[in-house]
Amino acid sequence: MRSHLLNDLTAEHYRRSVTEGVERVAAKLATTDRPFTGVTVDALSPRIDTIDLDQPLYDTTAVLDELEDVYLRDAIYFHHPRYLAHLNCPVVIPAVLGEAVLSAVNSSLDTWDQSAGGTLIERKLIDWTTARIGLGEAADGVFTSGGTQSNLQALLLAREEAKPGPGGREQAAGLAGLRIFASEVGHFSVKKSAKLLGLGQDAVVAIPVDHDKRMQTVALAHELERCRRDGLIPMAVVATAGTTDFGSIDPLPEIAELCEQYGTWMHVDAAYGCGLLASLKYRDRIDGIERADSVTVDYHKSFFQPVSSSAVLVRDASTLRHATYHAEYLNPRRMVTERIPNQVDKSLQTTRRFDALKLWMTLRTMGADGIGELFDEVCELAQEGWQLLAADPRYDVVVEPSLSTLVFRYIPAAVTDPAEIDRANLYARKALFASGDAVVAGTKVGGRHYLKFTLLNPETTTADVSAVLDLIAGHAEQYLGESLDRAS
Ligand SMILES: *Cc1c(COP(=O)(O)O)cnc(C)c1O
Repeated sequence: MRSHLLNDLTAEHYRRSVTEGVERVAAKLATTDRPFTGVTVDALSPRIDTIDLDQPLYDTTAVLDELEDVYLRDAIYFHHPRYLAHLNCPVVIPAVLGEAVLSAVNSSLDTWDQSAGGTLIERKLIDWTTARIGLGEAADGVFTSGGTQSNLQALLLAREEAKPGPGGREQAAGLAGLRIFASEVGHFSVKKSAKLLGLGQDAVVAIPVDHDKRMQTVALAHELERCRRDGLIPMAVVATAGTTDFGSIDPLPEIAELCEQYGTWMHVDAAYGCGLLASLKYRDRIDGIERADSVTVDYHKSFFQPVSSSAVLVRDASTLRHATYHAEYLNPRRMVTERIPNQVDKSLQTTRRFDALKLWMTLRTMGADGIGELFDEVCELAQEGWQLLAADPRYDVVVEPSLSTLVFRYIPAAVTDPAEIDRANLYARKALFASGDAVVAGTKVGGRHYLKFTLLNPETTTADVSAVLDLIAGHAEQYLGESLDRAS
């Protein structure tokens, strides 16, 4: 069994095994003609259930054959141009190469003595990102597992920094008196974070959005004023730069003004919109982000990186101390004075993947402009898709895209019952998924069911967009036809 340990004696086995796996995936990529096979849970479950984990196959080829059957054949393939559903991007090859290297070397980024160069590479990428944002000389940050963790950590820092009112935070009703303001279409991880941070039930105040799904700053000002009047503490405003549902970008400069006025921490959730940091054409859409106290970026959404790759960035490095604990065995306090860089001092995680390497390989191979160009392409595709939808009488489309998302709903001329239209749209999404011809997402707008394209694949064309719209219309019409038959 020691032949399976990766070391000097097994280099050849390592090379052959990994190559064999790479060959399988490459063959898959070459032959995949749909994003999904349409397999059902009921069809796939027994294939996995019948495998006895206590009866190994011992042979790499046999294991890969089995994997074909339980995973590779029916996986959802994000690289396919008709995968249009969630915030999953096709990945760039330099990052995949980085992934292979980082898992084999297996550095852990918590301490210098488990990582060395990896620590410095991560720090350099953090500095690169804060410079792109414009956070200033005192900025810092750390890689995280994703936007959810980044938001949690940012809000932890905000909670600790929350300026106590006269008499201090304890007297201001303790944690129950803290308020976070986020738009009604902000990410649900904000609420989850509030719960984890021990804030009260009413901690997150939902600010209404305007017609373009951007936070209404007049309403925000009103709520901040009310918060102060009620003797509560405005702990943080979460501005979203790229909402998950619409890609809408909250008015960052106006929000920054209000945060300054009320002494409130400004967090920008740019999990999605961070791609604009590399954009050659549309960077100005996130102007104002440089005024944030903290920023969430998900490289695994708009930098074409494999999951996971994310970071939380802060304007003032010293605020990261709120996540610092010293353990004698790992990162004793004296190491700070010895200037040994232990990233665990800044992170919620201890053992932590060297995800930064993927971004490093990407920037060194393609450059930031290479990434920005790809992201610009999907933003332009969304613009063209919006024009298609706006001109198409079969569809109602919500908000002109600021990033690469389209939200729309099939509206047959002959049907007036909105509940029936809801059912037709839900049916179309399901039927499309079952066919595997394309994968699209859905959401609710004003209580009604809508469909959603999240366009992150530069290989997707307007012809794909229009073909998928025809497929959706076909499924919806079929549903409505059958529904008429049922009624008569
Ligand atoms: C995706 C997303 C998140 C959560 O990020 P994960 O990487 O999925 O944890 C947070 N905020 C926004 C706006 C997002 O789109």
